[in-house]
Amino acid sequence: MHISDLPHEILSDILLRATKANEAEGESYTYGLTQAPLPLQTSKLSKYVRGPLTGESLRWDATNAIRQVCNQWHDWALGYNLEHVLERTWRGSERWAELTVRRRKYSIYELIDKPSGYAVYRDPYGSLKSTDRLFASLPSAASHVRRLWFNGLYAAETDKLILSIIANCTQLQYLSVPWTILRRATAQEWVDLLNVGTAGRTPLHSLELNAVCLSKDQATALELDTTSNPLKDPRVDFSSLKRLKIFGNTLHKPVCDTDLKLIARTATKLECLDITNLSTITVAGMLALVKASSETLQVLEHSPRSDDGFYHPHPGRLETGEHICELLANLPQMRDLSISVPSMCAELFSNHEVKWAGELQVRATDLCNCKKGTEGEKLQAALSAARTLMAAKRRMHHELSTEVFFAGCIFEPEKRLVHGDFAIAELRSGGRWPLDAQSSTLGPYGQSGTYGKDEGLWDAISEEEYLHAVGKGWVAL
Ligand SMILES: [Zn+2]
Repeated sequence: MHISDLPHEILSDILLRATKANEAEGESYTYGLTQAPLPLQTSKLSKYVRGPLTGESLRWDATNAIRQVCNQWHDWALGYNLEHVLERTWRGSERWAELTVRRRKYSIYELIDKPSGYAVYRDPYGSLKSTDRLFASLPSAASHVRRLWFNGLYAAETDKLILSIIANCTQLQYLSVPWTILRRATAQEWVDLLNVGTAGRTPLHSLELNAVCLSKDQATALELDTTSNPLKDPRVDFSSLKRLKIFGNTLHKPVCDTDLKLIARTATKLECLDITNLSTITVAGMLALVKASSETLQVLEHSPRSDDGFYHPHPGRLETGEHICELLANLPQMRDLSISVPSMCAELFSNHEVKWAGELQVRATDLCNCKKGTEGEKLQAALSAARTLMAAKRRMHHELSTEVFFAGCIFEPEKRLVHGDFAIAELRSGGRWPLDAQSSTLGPYGQSGTYGKDEGLWDAISEEEYLHAVGKGWVAL
């Protein structure tokens, strides 16, 4: 029997093992210059190991031999190499001309004692341009792409190239793009990007928008762009999208609540919504999407934390004054919840039918005004409701742990512990409180503890003792 007659899965497994073995044995480093030589200057050059090769280069080298065997193997190798495509700018914009581009010849290069060479200019978008050319001329290659990832490309020129590459990848499922695409692409380009109901094309499954602060030139160019918001066009349809992630802060035309409300008109089947590390989206924008996808949403992360660590930006207020706790507690498919809300109360933990599992994180600025009572009583009610919920889950053999971030402290209801800096409260009590404090491993920056910034160490005290201090007015909520 010929090897090509084997069932596809078995052949694929054999080729994959061979590729992995090639990858382990192949060249994994590239070289550079100690300094780029200048004209009319004789400086001693020495070569150095510049850094590891990129994952794509490693994978490409590993299938070199396989690609040359026959059509079937060539096709398999293209699928392996092009399933995930990552594009980034070329750092340094230079290359040592004398270093061979054929990495298999590196061993000969290593024998050269006195290296010579000069820096050559490299187009920072060269790789993006060649990818675009390749996919435009070879649709069969583009059809292997399942995931596209663009990093560090924010110019109008690169946005165009990115959109052109996306348009050629008919089976694309996962896309990670700079948020500038939202600002510069037209409605038609968004229709082609999301691919809902287009024959022969796969609708997009997952979309990530990443934002950063731009350099002055790039920022000005973006501000001057006059493309109207593509999301306003009713043809832009997010109904097939399962995962939406928005990440990173920017000052320039950032993703905002208005965008999310427009997306929410059609995004009715989201399973995962992740809004992290940015302060331009408030709880109102998040809730618009949560309500639109309330039947399907399983994972929700909204943490506007930025570099400020624990002291995150305010999650914003709801003009409608609706009760978020009730809404969040009644999402039928919700599993994984980590949220920042303007206020919380015991109601959030009242539904014992929830599917919540793993770690639940709630960051709240205030306590809800839905019930009468002092702030201390409301907090106590919320913490004990969380405890009851966790106990109910455990009886069903589901593990759920909870962390509540409130009033500058971290509460662990299960352990009845409160972590925080209680120095001021201790002064206020005239040194009579706390009776029993242990040092805490947590800090204002959450689980990972301190980031080496200047700050005092945290203590952990019992919930009972904390609430006692609240009652005495030593701790202000
Ligand atoms: Zn509430």
